[in-house]
Amino acid sequence: MAGNDEGPAIGIDLGTTYSCVAVWQRDRVEIIPNDQGNRITPSYVAFNETERLIGDAAKNVVAINPTNTVFDAKRLIGRRFSDPLVQEDVMLWPFKVICGENDKPVIVVTYKGEEKQYAAEEISSMVLTKMKETAEDFLGSTVKNAVITVPAYFNDSQRRATKDAGVISGLNVLRILVEPTAAAVAYGLDKMSSSSEEKNVLIFDLGGGTFDVSLLTMVKRTFKVKSTAGNTHLGGEDFDNRMLNHFVQEFKRKHKADINNNPRALRRLKKACERAKRELSSMVHTTIGIDCLYDGIDFNSKITRAKFEELNIDLFEECIVHVEKCLKDAEMDKESIHDVVLVGGSTRIPKVQQLLQDFFDGKELCKSIHPDEAVAHGAAIQAAILTGQGTVEIRDLVLCDVTPLSLGVRVDGVKMSVVVPRNTTIPTRKEKMFTTGDDNQTSVAFPLYEGERPRASDNILLGRFVLSGISPAPSGVPDLKVCFDIDVNGILNVTAEDKATGSTNGITISNVQGMLSQDEIERMLEEAKRLKLEDEEHKKRFEAKHSLEDYVYKVRAVTRKLTDAKKTESEIESAMQWLDEHKDAERSVLENKRKELESIWEPIITKL
Ligand code: AMP
Repeated sequence: MAGNDEGPAIGIDLGTTYSCVAVWQRDRVEIIPNDQGNRITPSYVAFNETERLIGDAAKNVVAINPTNTVFDAKRLIGRRFSDPLVQEDVMLWPFKVICGENDKPVIVVTYKGEEKQYAAEEISSMVLTKMKETAEDFLGSTVKNAVITVPAYFNDSQRRATKDAGVISGLNVLRILVEPTAAAVAYGLDKMSSSSEEKNVLIFDLGGGTFDVSLLTMVKRTFKVKSTAGNTHLGGEDFDNRMLNHFVQEFKRKHKADINNNPRALRRLKKACERAKRELSSMVHTTIGIDCLYDGIDFNSKITRAKFEELNIDLFEECIVHVEKCLKDAEMDKESIHDVVLVGGSTRIPKVQQLLQDFFDGKELCKSIHPDEAVAHGAAIQAAILTGQGTVEIRDLVLCDVTPLSLGVRVDGVKMSVVVPRNTTIPTRKEKMFTTGDDNQTSVAFPLYEGERPRASDNILLGRFVLSGISPAPSGVPDLKVCFDIDVNGILNVTAEDKATGSTNGITISNVQGMLSQDEIERMLEEAKRLKLEDEEHKKRFEAKHSLEDYVYKVRAVTRKLTDAKKTESEIESAMQWLDEHKDAERSVLENKRKELESIWEPIITKL
C-alpha cells in the first residue's frame, strides 16, 4: 500500500472523449481545473511539425490537422485490430490505424516530419501524463499514485492495457476502479445514512464512447456491484456520427458532392454536430453554419430535437434493453430499485432521461452529482482510502466489484467451460478440475476465454497456456486442477497443476495476444520520457522566441522618443526580419540573438 509520505494520490477518470482528475484535500474532494481553467480535459493528442499537444490545445487543432490528431484511444485500448468494432471506428476516424504485430492496432501519425507509430496505451498514457501534470501544478508537488477508472464492461485485456498506460505515464496505479462503482462512491457519500437498511442503486452511465449500467447495493459503508451490463461501443460519439451522416447526405442532395472523402471537412462538420447535439438538450431546434465546408461551398442547415431523436432512437432504446438485462442478471425487478443515478455527459439528453424515467414508471431520476465529475470524484475518494489519507468518514468504505463477463477454458475443441461465472464478486479464486482427451497425453493446452456464449470461439480469447509434464495415463484419468485468480483490479492470473505429480512445473501462460510485454512497456516509458523532454525543450524555445520578440517591441516603444530614432528604427526592422526568417530557430540561437541585441540597445535605453 502506498503511504501518506508519498504525497497526495489522485483519482483519474480516463474518459473516451474527456478526462477528469480529482484529489482528496481538506476533507473533501477537489476537482482539479487544467491550465485552461477547465474541469474536464479532452482526451486528445495532436502531433505537428514542431510539437506535441495534449488536451484542449489538441482538440482545438483537430479541424486543421485531422490526420495527426488522435482521440478515442479508449475505444482501441486492449482490443484487436480485426475486432469488427475497431474496423467500424477505423472507417470513421480521420487518423490512420494499421494492424500491428499480434493483431494489435497501431496508430500512425506524422510528428516533426517523421512517421511515428503508437499503441493505444501510449496515446492514453499521454492523456494520463497531462492529468498528472494538471494535478501537480495545482498541488505544487509531485504526484506518484493514482486510481484510474475503466468502464465496468471492460474485459481483462482492456483493464490490463489501461494499467499499462498508467505505468507508461510514470504513475503508480493503486487500483483500476470501475466507473459506476466510483460514481456510487461519490453519490453514496452524499446520501449515505447510518441506517443499516439495504439500498439498491442503478447507475446509468452514458458517456462519449461507452455505456455502462450497473446495479449496486449499499448497506451502511459497503458498496457491492450486483450486476453490470452495457456496450463498450455506445455513447455520445455515436449520436454525433448519426447526425454527421444525416448532414453528409443532405450536403450530397443539395450540392451533389460527397464530403466523406475529405477528413478535414468531416471533422469540422462533426464538431458542429456535437455542439448542435448539446444545444438540443436545452433547445428544441438549432442551426449549423460552416463557411467553405467543401470546395468553397458554405453549409447552413437546421435540425430539430425531434429529428435528432429520430436519428438515434434505436440507440437510446438499446440503453433501456441493457437496463433490463442488468436487472435480470441481479434477479431484481424495477420496483426494488431505490435510486436511478445519471452519470456521463450524454445523460443530459432529454429523450434518454425520458425513456429511463418511463421504464421506471415515472420515478424521479437522481441528477444531484455532476455527470462529468462523479467518476473522478469517486476515484479520488478511493485513492485517499488506499493511501490512508481519507478522514474517518471515508476510511472504512468497502468497495466490492464483480467480474463483468464469465471466464473459462475451451474444452473438447469447442465448448466453453466456465470457471468464474459472470458477476462473481472480486477478488476471487476459483478452481475446476480438467482431464486429458487422449491416452498417454503428456501435455494439455488450456485456451482461456471470456464471454457468455456456449461455443468458446464466439467469446474473446484471452490467451492460452500449456501444462506439460503430465504422467502418461489413459484419457480421462489425470486430474488437472486449474485455478483462476482475479485480483482487486479485476486482473486475471491462471495456473494449473497435475494432481498425480503434484507438480506445477512446465506451465507456461503465453503472453495474452496483443498485450504489451515488460520490454515494450519499458521502451514506451523511455519514449514517454523522451517526448516529455522534447515538449519541455519546445516550451523553452517558444519562451525564448517570445522573450526576444517582446524585447524588440519594448525597445521600439522606448526608442521612439529618441531624437535620432531613425537608426534604431532600422535596426529594429532588421531584427524583425531576422525573427521572421528564423521562426524555427533553436533555443540557443534565439537566446544568443537576444544577447546580441541587448549589447547594442541596453546602453541606449539606460541613457533614457
Ligand atoms: P463523458 O464521456 O461522460 O465525458 O461524456 C462526454 C459526452 O457527453 C460527449 O459525447 C458529449 O458530446 C456529451 N455531452 C456533454 N454535454 C451534453 C449535453 N448537454 N447534451 C448532450 N450530450 C452532451
